[in-house]
Amino acid sequence: MSTQDNTSVVLHKIKDIRLEPKPIRKPTKGQVQIAVHSVGICGSDVHYWVNGGIGDFIVKSPMILGHETSGTVVELGEGVTNLKIGDRVAVEPGVPCYKCDQCMDGRYNLCPDVFFCATPPDDGTLTRLYCHDANFCFKLPDNMTYEEGALLEPLSVGVHACRRAEVTGGDTILICGAGPIGLVTLLTARAFGATNIAITDINAKRLEFAKTLGVNHTILVDGDPQSTAKRAIELLGKMPDKSIDCVAFPPTISTAIYATKSGGTVLLVGLGPPTSEIPIVNASVREVDIKGVFRYKGCYQKAMDMIARGLINVKPLVTHRYAMEQALEAFEMTKSGEGIKVMIKCDPTRAQLQ
Ligand SMILES: [Zn+2]
Ligand SMILES: [Zn+2]
Repeated sequence: MSTQDNTSVVLHKIKDIRLEPKPIRKPTKGQVQIAVHSVGICGSDVHYWVNGGIGDFIVKSPMILGHETSGTVVELGEGVTNLKIGDRVAVEPGVPCYKCDQCMDGRYNLCPDVFFCATPPDDGTLTRLYCHDANFCFKLPDNMTYEEGALLEPLSVGVHACRRAEVTGGDTILICGAGPIGLVTLLTARAFGATNIAITDINAKRLEFAKTLGVNHTILVDGDPQSTAKRAIELLGKMPDKSIDCVAFPPTISTAIYATKSGGTVLLVGLGPPTSEIPIVNASVREVDIKGVFRYKGCYQKAMDMIARGLINVKPLVTHRYAMEQALEAFEMTKSGEGIKVMIKCDPTRAQLQ
């Protein structure tokens, strides 16, 4: 690769993605420079592209997209000892401040001063050469592909959700939504020992896909939340111990609350409308705990170990691959919902590798 080439996928404003060269940054102290290999497109990338923002995060100046990343270390900054040139790594996109209350409490995903790839104003990883804190780069074992490395990002969301929900051996689980996050949550819940899992969606094709990943029951949503909850309970044979909502839409949150057993837990993954009408009294009088989930902390290594040990197989999730030059097509495909995970390949020198 020419060192001059730092083509990047840049969002200028709503519906305006451009491929353009960006200056090459050198790794600062504690950073490594990475030749980016595979970047998965996330719903949030598409959201920024289509809507120009998510909640309070508004794209005000051009921003490089992408945060589900793997690549090869090509240069070490001063003081880096945990990695060497040539290492294949997965990049955890959030680098916290290490100083605030949340960081000191070990909840660095809640750090107000976190740098997070492709969350305005922070640039993402859809570029050829990218610099990142070496402590948040995880060396991939030889038996893992670059794409599996990039998938550690969404998988970490599933791992954090299942940890917050305290999913454990023999659990009965309801998952609302069979998109990429619902599917990684399914894979994680199984790896954590859940034995009876139902998943809902409005898209029959996604439910068929979930069946190939080994879900026990699928529910095509075509009614109100109470009837969907009733069907889930019938199929599972009991009320789920935990329900994990991966849609963040009032009707699916309501389904999760109605279905969950008294004393159980409802987990809210993802960001929907800022206010929602949900049956809060139903949850309250049955002591159903409702918990939020924001990104993840300390999950990359665990997610990686589960893949490397064969407990989780994320490979089938990749349904489409595009070269960086076809980024717009890749974004259109993600938006269409036709595929599950769309990968953009950024490293022409290792193009034959997955
Ligand atoms: Zn993501
Ligand atoms: Zn902090």
